[in-house]
Amino acid sequence: MQRRNSRTVRVGGTVIGGGFRITVQSMTNTDTHDIDATYSQVMRLAEAGCDIVRITAPDIKSVRTFEALKARDVTVPLVADIHFNHEIAIAAAESGVDKIRINPGNIGSDERVERVVRACQKYGVPIRIGVNSGSLEKSILEKHGSPTPEALAESAMYHASLLEKFDFRDIVLSVKASSVPNMIEANRILAARTDYPLHLGVTEAGGGSSAIVKSSIGIGTLLSEGIGDTVRVSLTDDPIEEIYAAREILGAIGLLENPGMNIISCPTCGRTKIDLIRLLAEFKRRARDEGFDRKNISVALMGCVVNGPGEAREADVGIAGGNGEGLIFKKGEILRKTDEASLIDELIKEIRLL
Ligand code: SF4
Repeated sequence: MQRRNSRTVRVGGTVIGGGFRITVQSMTNTDTHDIDATYSQVMRLAEAGCDIVRITAPDIKSVRTFEALKARDVTVPLVADIHFNHEIAIAAAESGVDKIRINPGNIGSDERVERVVRACQKYGVPIRIGVNSGSLEKSILEKHGSPTPEALAESAMYHASLLEKFDFRDIVLSVKASSVPNMIEANRILAARTDYPLHLGVTEAGGGSSAIVKSSIGIGTLLSEGIGDTVRVSLTDDPIEEIYAAREILGAIGLLENPGMNIISCPTCGRTKIDLIRLLAEFKRRARDEGFDRKNISVALMGCVVNGPGEAREADVGIAGGNGEGLIFKKGEILRKTDEASLIDELIKEIRLL
């Protein structure tokens, strides 16, 4: 796949853009003032494969959390999410944070923007401009009538121009909308108009399968066109789920160097005589606990022996159900038969041996 040629922006030990690996982001939902809770969520996110963690900085006091996390063993790059207040942005840059997210058009005067830029230049902190369809500038909304893709792209370029005035180009852009077609089109416009790296996401996507479908289509369409440098899947859920979903999207498009575990499972039918739906849920939960989701393996969970091992021949290991029992197979070869209650235990044992 030919990726868009974007400029590189360094965020701590990670690089966004320039054809580098697409990074996965999420955001903590703990109270930022609660340092211990925020620390443990940051560590869980990093452990799950999150490359960059964003934390809201609602007031000056919250900046202490960034200092505290940096003083501990947090190595994943941290982003301070700031709205309007330039003093918080400056304090965050001074705190050792790796990136800030702020829209310069919301800060106020040029003088304030310049102070933020100077602090970011001094500490090597890039800025993400994040435009959302729900918070477009009044003048742009009036010009376009609604948050159209062109309006979103124009707003992002307007905010960037305020930083460029002070020769600052260490910028990542994001234009997010809850409308998937608008989000896709706005990013296509930006991709053609600028070389800033693009952070992709469908905002306020909701939760569950509908949210994952929206994000998969929005983010997946753009990535398939070579557009996008970093992604965030927004879910009304535990942020860890965002990482799993993002990795699934990247893996499905073939953009993960280590795609992790691929699960092949049948949809069940009248032939299924084991509770495959429950077994799959149990397997997924235990596989995560075992860290199998990071292993580059293919695991099959098939409802019956008729199509089981045959259809899942490419699987490294798998199960095929019988009547209250099942077969364990490896690379298309049957290893043994076991009762339904032990199927997942036996499957896990085999995966540990791979
Ligand atoms: Fe039905 Fe067997 Fe196919 Fe599963 S693998 S859908 S149980 S025929």
